[in-house]
Amino acid sequence: MGIAGLYQEMIIDHAKSPRNFRELAGATRTVDVVNSLCGDHLTLYLDLTADGAVCDIAFEGDGCAISRASASLMTMAVKGLPRGEALTLFTRVHSMLTTETVGETALVGVGKLAVLSGVWEYPGRVKCATLAWQALRNALEDGDRRGEKE
Ligand code: ZN
Repeated sequence: MGIAGLYQEMIIDHAKSPRNFRELAGATRTVDVVNSLCGDHLTLYLDLTADGAVCDIAFEGDGCAISRASASLMTMAVKGLPRGEALTLFTRVHSMLTTETVGETALVGVGKLAVLSGVWEYPGRVKCATLAWQALRNALEDGDRRGEKE
């Protein structure tokens, strides 16, 4: 099995058994996002500290394998991160998902999220993969507009 096959196995595993897939009691932020192109929808729950570090994170929702796997991997990756590091990871992953990844250097700092690096080749799936990340960014940048809807 090549690396593409290995990545596919991990995506299928996370899609079937998503991690942190539950409602989070006591969440300080709740963000709903929808990808109407595919029908994916998810609710992201975050328990943020006063300075925006991600104490705990969970999600619920339904959608395709890519959207579920991406959300599952995202929650694992950002749990425990300070706000700044979570935003840096968002930027890295967003760039990985939307542009051709050239060589290994482009994957530095994304860890297991590299399994999603092939998504940019499928424009119809990019929004599936970025959905959970957009929700994360909304939550982290929503400090002054708490409780309001977009
Ligand atoms: Zn999708």
